[in-house]
Amino acid sequence: MSAMRKIATVVGSSGIGKSKLAVELCKALSGQVINADALQVYKGLDIITNKMPLNEREGIKHHLMDFLETEEEYQVTSFLKDASQKVATIHIESISEEKQLPVVVGGTNYYIQSLLWNNTTIGKQENREASPDEIDSNFPEFDQLETPELYQRLSKVDPVMANKWHPSDRRKILRSLRVFYQTGKPQSEIIKSQRDHYETHGLDPRYKALVFWIYSDPQKLNPRLDARVDQMIETGLFDEIKDLRNQVVQGHVKLPKGFELEKYQRGLWQAIGYKEFDAYFFALEEGNKDPAELEKIKVECTDRMKAATRRYAKSQIKWIKNKLLPTALNAKNNDVIVYCLDAGDLETWDTNVREKAVEIAKLFLMDLPLPDPASLSETASQMLAQLNPVLDTQTKILTWNKHTCETCKTDKGEPLVLNGDQEWEQHKKGRHHRKYLKHLRVEEKRKAYLESKKKEQEEQTTIE
Ligand SMILES: [Zn+2]
Repeated sequence: MSAMRKIATVVGSSGIGKSKLAVELCKALSGQVINADALQVYKGLDIITNKMPLNEREGIKHHLMDFLETEEEYQVTSFLKDASQKVATIHIESISEEKQLPVVVGGTNYYIQSLLWNNTTIGKQENREASPDEIDSNFPEFDQLETPELYQRLSKVDPVMANKWHPSDRRKILRSLRVFYQTGKPQSEIIKSQRDHYETHGLDPRYKALVFWIYSDPQKLNPRLDARVDQMIETGLFDEIKDLRNQVVQGHVKLPKGFELEKYQRGLWQAIGYKEFDAYFFALEEGNKDPAELEKIKVECTDRMKAATRRYAKSQIKWIKNKLLPTALNAKNNDVIVYCLDAGDLETWDTNVREKAVEIAKLFLMDLPLPDPASLSETASQMLAQLNPVLDTQTKILTWNKHTCETCKTDKGEPLVLNGDQEWEQHKKGRHHRKYLKHLRVEEKRKAYLESKKKEQEEQTTIE
């Protein structure tokens, strides 16, 4: 294949208007929506999963939405396969008809990430690395050895890694040692080659992509999120929760062992609102609460759902700032470009969000020069400048070192070793370290005082 396929994605926190912009883009550019929301892939339960109502989709095709049964599991690998197929199909259709743009939209960030970039950062022949489980179970003879012995062995074969780990951190020492025997290469070298590859090539983009990041200041967004929760309750959220609860109670959903513990982390049960209203539905099902008490529980649960929604929105923005932006900017070939659109004021949506996105997408489809992302608005230039330095995991591991505190001792009287700069900084600020330093200073002053007293006395005796 010659030129890379083009896609647009719309990202941003929940409740910001992603689905709306996706539909607007598709209308203007005869595109089709590919859903990247892990919960909207399920059939029904439209309210709790925040599906865009049919009448607002304006006849635009929505793929990967509403097609799974409640009890089915869907994973990022399934998404990657399905979404890539949809992108290909839309592009093939657009050869015979007019040019079509696949618009990928949804709040499940790791779905989007998996679609935008190949995560394999190392070359094919080096890529025959063992899986983590495999590494952990190989070379059982190491389990017989004491930690100091393991540490010594690691120091010989991979001194760089040995220098990173605390001498008593058996798990990490064992793992580094096993990686060496498994691959025949020191783990530090493997990490370094991954890092070098990442630095020269960035992650390999799968597509030529425009990313529209719709952003609003949290102070403006939070009241909108609260209002949306209230609206969800008014339009039938409780019926859907009841439905989900009944499926569990009646055994329509086969629950794996240990489900009680993890019941909120699976499929549709992860939807914000289900777990937050647990107490309320429990009280309802018990059936003997008085109405005032019940109302109080309901209000508490509503507040819980609002708080969870805000937390979720915050985490989504964090992902964009810490993961998406650095990765996009780190890629040298500029294949993924992120534009920040200011949706702080809903009244200016058309000019600040819709029109700008449509214009950029048109240029993108025609292969014309695109505007500088920072030039779009004050907010855009601020948000895009606030970048955290690109510090990927590999670099973090390679640059971190142990520190030995000169003043503090362990319970056994050994020097205290801190693992990494962060731990060391924390230790220096810690109560124990400061207290001990103070104690040392007092001790020094006391000694100096005694010393000077002694001198004074000596001087006096000589005078006498
Ligand atoms: Zn200390």
